[in-house]
Amino acid sequence: MGKTVFERIIDGEIPSVKIHEDDLCIVILDIAPVEKGHALVIAKTPYPTFTDCPETTLSHMMETAKQVDRKLREVLHCDGTNILINNGKASGQEVPHLHIHVIPRFTGDGQQFGFTKQQYAEGEQARLGGKLEF
Ligand code: AMP
Repeated sequence: MGKTVFERIIDGEIPSVKIHEDDLCIVILDIAPVEKGHALVIAKTPYPTFTDCPETTLSHMMETAKQVDRKLREVLHCDGTNILINNGKASGQEVPHLHIHVIPRFTGDGQQFGFTKQQYAEGEQARLGGKLEF
């Protein structure tokens, strides 16, 4: 299988606007931002999904996402951020190489997720909760 677009960025084969780099990850600006400043924390090792990534790297990436959040608030004066991982193709993950989106949000910016919420039938939520306990 060929390299992911993020491997090509990490290897310097295609350009990006990089705002951070360390041993485990890089942070770049998304080429098609939901809001300008939308950043991606990308694992240097191309774990395809969140599920495949070892704990140490994941913790480091979350800590890095927190630093990105701080920087976006400081520089852009955003009021909040969406921090999200699309985990697998079915969830909308386009690039099979683990990355965390950090999206600046502004009060009243009108952005919204396209999710449609559902309702549980009587007792269904509790039954499911019972199966999912760990
Ligand atoms: P996902 O759907 O979670 O896999 O998100 C992939 C993200 O990568 C999308 O938001 C794309 O806009 C972004 N992306 C794709 N190619 C590039 C690139 N060359 N430079 C920066 N961001 C990119």
